[in-house]
Amino acid sequence: MKRILITGGAGFIGSHLCERLLKEGNEVICLDNYFTGSKKNIIHLMKNPLFEVIRHDITTPFFIEVDEIYNLACPASPVHYQYNAIKTTKTSVIGAINMLGLAKRIKAKILQASTSEVYGDPQIHPQPESYWGNVNPIGPRSCYDEGKRCAETLFMDYHQQNDVCIKIIRIFNTYGPNMNPNDGRVVSNFIMQALKGEDITIFGDGSQTRSFQYVDDLVEGMIRMMNTEDAFTGPVNIGNQKEYTMMELAENILELTGSDSKLIFKSLPQDDPQRRQPDIHLATAKLNGWKPEIQLKEGLSKTIQYFEAIYHGTPLKERN
Ligand code: NAD
Ligand code: UDP
Repeated sequence: MKRILITGGAGFIGSHLCERLLKEGNEVICLDNYFTGSKKNIIHLMKNPLFEVIRHDITTPFFIEVDEIYNLACPASPVHYQYNAIKTTKTSVIGAINMLGLAKRIKAKILQASTSEVYGDPQIHPQPESYWGNVNPIGPRSCYDEGKRCAETLFMDYHQQNDVCIKIIRIFNTYGPNMNPNDGRVVSNFIMQALKGEDITIFGDGSQTRSFQYVDDLVEGMIRMMNTEDAFTGPVNIGNQKEYTMMELAENILELTGSDSKLIFKSLPQDDPQRRQPDIHLATAKLNGWKPEIQLKEGLSKTIQYFEAIYHGTPLKERN
């Protein structure tokens, strides 16, 4: 049994990670400022005596004794991370410094939830970890992209300079239950629009691609990464290799929901990446043969069930 700190634990991915690590018998401390996360995502865990929740913002230092830290705190959807761009950079950079300082002091292992956004609008396809990326440093997405890139730099430097045991994963677009229905990401937007019979908002002509990973596959990869030998730092891509256009995603969601919503086209946001697909050879080699198990239709069906419950106002205890 380990004592584990999860920053951003009340968010979409963090809540799944809390649940899984508790299920494995660990003591879990969830730290969150509830900017985009919600107590609703973790309320079902509160009765577990091994679970503790602390309201805290990682831009200020925090002290605790733990064995492992998963650093997930950071808004992840473009709408939310652009809402207060300076705060987003502070969360990534000052938050990383605070968590790395803590890890150094208490000799804990620390994993950084980095992102495929470090590749920006990639000119190499699919993206291997060795690719340095194509990021606009002064565009609307840079608070997130450059914040995460600087966090990776800090992680490597704390490892090299101070011998902190670090792990970096680059997460590709992930979806599943507990996504915030209002956070503007494409999967939650399309599903909610389909369920409500509203128009499906395709940005641009819908030919841009993303590779969508179901959250359970990601959580499995994260835990395997944390358990790799100390010398292995990553970064490692964690994502599903199957690439879809936004038009294909919309068609899948319309079919699975049986909705007769119409597609409408809106302008493409500035610097929106045209293609994105992970090269996962390193993950498969280093994480005991890890590969995504849940393909799009199965994952979308589970996610649609979750959003249906929200839309119809099903009480929380009846969800899942
Ligand atoms: P999310 O917005 O649901 O979760 C982020 C959590 O961090 C929320 O609970 C939020 O309240 C909390 N938070 C934000 N700023 C904070 C701060 N300053 N102090 C304390 N808590 C703070 O997003 P998510 O999709 O669960 O993403 C989790 C992590 O994974 C993020 O770091 C994100 O960058 C990374 N990631 C996610 C994806 C994805 O597709 N979901 C892809 C790449 C990387
Ligand atoms: N997108 C869209 N309609 C929406 C929301 C997003 O067509 O209602 C597009 C968006 O322009 C992008 C893709 O879907 O090309 C993925 O967007 P998301 O915000 O989910 O993630 P990210 O751009 O960070 O990968």
